[in-house]
Formats: sequence, structure tokens, C-alpha cells
Amino acid sequence: MQRPGADKENMEMSDFLCDFCRTPWDGTFAMVEGHQGSLICQDCMTIAYDTLVTQKQSTAPAGAKCTMCLEERDDATWQSPAYEDAVICKRCCKQGAGRLHKDPDVEWSKPPQ
Ligand SMILES: [Zn+2]
Ligand SMILES: [Zn+2]
Repeated sequence: MQRPGADKENMEMSDFLCDFCRTPWDGTFAMVEGHQGSLICQDCMTIAYDTLVTQKQSTAPAGAKCTMCLEERDDATWQSPAYEDAVICKRCCKQGAGRLHKDPDVEWSKPPQ
């Protein structure tokens, strides 16, 4: 997400926040972008992936809309423990994790199964 009130003509790195933990970006960690500027950082991705893929759990209420793809998914979905409007579905989680995993500039790999 973009920091509320950020100057859209003059965006700085710290104006981009992870939707799931609201940590401002400082360029030292990777983020995956979804629709409408939604972002998930690599640390939240680790937790989401572990919950959805490894443990096969769903933490969001049924019918919750995914923040990343803006769809209501029947898939398992992970809800941020800190911000309940931040939800990622399993599909977006797997796609994003695949992207981070393959990116040679990112030191992130899928958590071990
Ligand atoms: Zn985060
Ligand atoms: Zn999604």
C-alpha cells in the first residue's frame, strides 16, 4: 500500500508499505506487488506461505477478499494478525513466493516443507 497522504508526484521508498505489517520499504527487503498497489513484504510472505502451503491452514474468515488479487477466493486465505483488512489467498501467495524464490537479487527461498 502507499502511505496515506503520500505525494503521488514524488513518491519515496518509505511511502511504500507492506499491507500486512505496514513496514515502510527501505530497499533492504523484497516486496511483491498485487493489484491497486497492494504489497506484501518477504517476511509476511514467509508467514503466509508457512500457514497456507506448509500447514494448509486458513486464518481469514470465509469470503474474505484477497488484498492482492481483489477476489473472494474459495482457496485458503491468510489474514494479517495485525491488520485484519489485509488478506492474501493461497494462489497469490504461491505466485508471489515463486517470484521471490526465483529472483536472483532476493535472498528469499520458500520455507522448507
Ligand atoms: Zn510485511
Ligand atoms: Zn489473491
